[in-house]
Amino acid sequence: MAAIYDRVALIGLGLIASSMAHAMRQNGLANEIVGHARSPETRATALELGICDAVFATAAEAVADADLVVLAVPVGAMGDLAAEIAPHLKPGATVTDVGSVKQSVIAAVAPHMPEGVHFVAGHPLAGTEHSGPRAGFAALFRNRWWLLTPDETTNRAAVDRLRALCVAMGANVDEMDAAHHDLVLAVTSHTPHLIAYTMVGVADDLGRVTDSEVVKYSAAGFRDFTRIAASDPVMWRDVFLTNKDATLEILGRFTEELFALQRAIRLGDGQHLQEYFTRTRAIRRGIIEAGQDTAAPDFGRAPNADLGQKPGLAPKSDG
Ligand code: NAP
Repeated sequence: MAAIYDRVALIGLGLIASSMAHAMRQNGLANEIVGHARSPETRATALELGICDAVFATAAEAVADADLVVLAVPVGAMGDLAAEIAPHLKPGATVTDVGSVKQSVIAAVAPHMPEGVHFVAGHPLAGTEHSGPRAGFAALFRNRWWLLTPDETTNRAAVDRLRALCVAMGANVDEMDAAHHDLVLAVTSHTPHLIAYTMVGVADDLGRVTDSEVVKYSAAGFRDFTRIAASDPVMWRDVFLTNKDATLEILGRFTEELFALQRAIRLGDGQHLQEYFTRTRAIRRGIIEAGQDTAAPDFGRAPNADLGQKPGLAPKSDG
């Protein structure tokens, strides 16, 4: 496949950036990939694994002459990085991000973008609970959604070129308004993560259930919560700090539903419970029919060729 960008600069060299590098290399989508991460260890690992052709100690150096700059750091770090790189961006370059929240990233990054540089915010709905440059793999984005949130002022040619890159890495691309994105992700990803964190915290607090029992009998449902709750603490701290309104809105609804179920259990209202669980079961079927998970009983654990995942890694629909 012909290269879509000549030089790509990855700022942050963790799971998402390293997966992008592998996918771009596998498909010949960039002639040169350079990068920056905070720590010398991460930069050295990126060179060792061939993720980057060159790494730089500062983001400013990394973006010089890049046609595409990808901000792949925790959401809370994006604004400062945008300010740092702004004077060094090449005229006509595209800057994108992969942050899990869109309104706050746009508010933090867009004001720094110089005239003639195109900022197109984005978010791949693909991830695992693993972090860092060693966690990446080329198939991460295959058959996953990559959401772009341009507005009416965003350069159309820049959006289409970025879209072509995402598609060439195996993703399906949709465009939507940033506020809508944040609400959708609060439902599908952010609130479920918070619930998983809570459930694992509850089990940890529960003195009557010993640690060994929690681990031994975890396949009863708890195991899936623990996998989600093993996600990167800094990334998820930033998600909740920056998608505050949408998450609180969905949490409010969640609490109401939980109280209704609690009441049904207390009153022995089996009809309410059964009707509720019948409705939720249909949603699971819809996800499988949409190709976003497998119906296999061990879903997410055995290597699954259909989902193109790294052996031993379970796909998560986000971050
Ligand atoms: P990650 O594996 O934890 O990697 C983060 C990278 O950012 C590391 O290379 C880290 O460098 C670097 N970094 C952190 N703060 C920095 C700073 N202030 N300046 C420069 N570099 C900095 O993270 P990730 O999972 O790839 O996530 C990156 C972004 O993608 C986040 O915004 C997240 O919301 C989004 N996202 C994540 C997922 C997911 O499931 N993981 C899915 C979709 C989107 P050091 O190693 O040197 O500390």
